[in-house]
Formats: sequence, C-alpha cells, structure tokens
Amino acid sequence: MAVLVDVFLCRTDNYGYLVHDVETRKTAAIDAPDAGAIKAALNHRGWTLTDVLITHHHRDHVEGLPVLKQDFDVTVTGPRLEADKILGLDAMVAPGDLVTLGATSFLVMATPGHTLGHVAYFNEADRHVFTGDALFSMGCGRMFEGKPGPMWEGLKQLRALPDETLVYCGHEYSAANARFALSVEPRNAALNIRASEVNRMRAEDRFTVPVSMGMEKRTNPFLRADQPQLAQAMGLEPGLDAAAVFAALRAAKDNFS
Ligand SMILES: [Zn+2]
Repeated sequence: MAVLVDVFLCRTDNYGYLVHDVETRKTAAIDAPDAGAIKAALNHRGWTLTDVLITHHHRDHVEGLPVLKQDFDVTVTGPRLEADKILGLDAMVAPGDLVTLGATSFLVMATPGHTLGHVAYFNEADRHVFTGDALFSMGCGRMFEGKPGPMWEGLKQLRALPDETLVYCGHEYSAANARFALSVEPRNAALNIRASEVNRMRAEDRFTVPVSMGMEKRTNPFLRADQPQLAQAMGLEPGLDAAAVFAALRAAKDNFS
C-alpha cells in the first residue's frame, strides 16, 4: 500500500484524517478541525505533518490551522474559490488540479452546495476519497451556499468513482442519516443491513467510516435521486428532473427529526 490513513474523532463529531505517504514519509491532515487531536495522532504514529488539504472554509474544518502552521513546516492547500475565507492558505487549487503528497496524488473534485467552493480529494491509486461535508455516509451536507443542480452534479461525480473507493467524510453522522434514509426507503434491503450495522458499531463506539462508494450508491438517498422510487417516495412524478428530487430530499432532511 502506498499510503496509510489514520482516522480519529475531533471536537464532537468531526473526523480527523492523516494520510501518510509510505515512500516519502510525507503526511497530510485532511482539514484541520482540532490541532490538539491532530498532534496527538501524529505523535501516536510517529509521523511529521508536512501538508494540510482543506475541503471548505467552515470553522470546524480550519480552526486548527494557526497552531499547525506554527508547530510544523506545512503547506496548506485549499479551494481557490474560498481563499478569502481561509486564513493561512499556501496553495490554491481548482477542480481538475492534482495535489501531490510525495508519491501520492489527489484529484481535486468540485462538490459545491454545502459551501460554494467545496472540494473533495480523490486518491485514485489507493481508491480513497475525502469528501469533507459534501457527502456523508447515507447523507450529504446541508445546502448552505449552493443550489440543488450543481450540488447534485457534484454528488454524481463522486458516485461515478469506482465502487471499491473508500469514502472518508467530515463527520460521524451515520446513525442519524440512516434514520432519515430509512424513512425514505424503508424497504431498501442494503440500507436496512447497513443501518443495523451502523447502530451496532456506534453502540460499541466504533467509527462507521470509511465506507465503500458501492455501499453508498445502494444506501445513500442523496446519491439515488435519479432512481424512480426516490421520486415516488417524495411524492413527485417519476420523470421529474433528478435535481428537483434531490432538492426535495435535502429539504425533507432539513426538517427531519
Ligand atoms: Zn461544513
């Protein structure tokens, strides 16, 4: 394996990730939710931070940057569209760019909607995608800044990644997302199995990520907006534009408790 990924929880429900390129020993944090938690994970592994890849500008994803920049010789990379909102960016990227970490590279993918400049980072060689708050297991980020059309297009790009791609998302929201997903598709067999697995894992305090994109394609309602049964579940016409079905799903989740 070309990289090792360390997964840990930060703050209340943020995921912290370290990606370690084995060949060059370069190590990247994906987002900077909590400098203390990131430093503890680095110490535990015996790794030194060289890079930070930022998915979007929200405070709970960038708050650790000042301390990390002070304590390490790091290059902070993030979306050009949000450069004015992220303090301490060294390199700005746009969708389609490749970011390198030693011998490992990440394709920058546009995933607008939660924030306008939100990006995901796809490591094709190892089949890992870091989706920030664009895609969660069985859910997606709240649409704070974008419009349903572009957000759905971004999610479709993620969905087009190979089934075996492992999804590393920004928050542990899987149990709540499963409850909503089941309210939409109560008879989805794969979803029922995944939901019970998630409940068991959470009861044991285990992480529910990474999860394969293949599993997400079968269980995440927000990746299934173009399936006729989803339109039907939302009380919409089967032939309706998938972006409109997606918008209905997103609105329903906002009001779901
Ligand atoms: Zn966010």
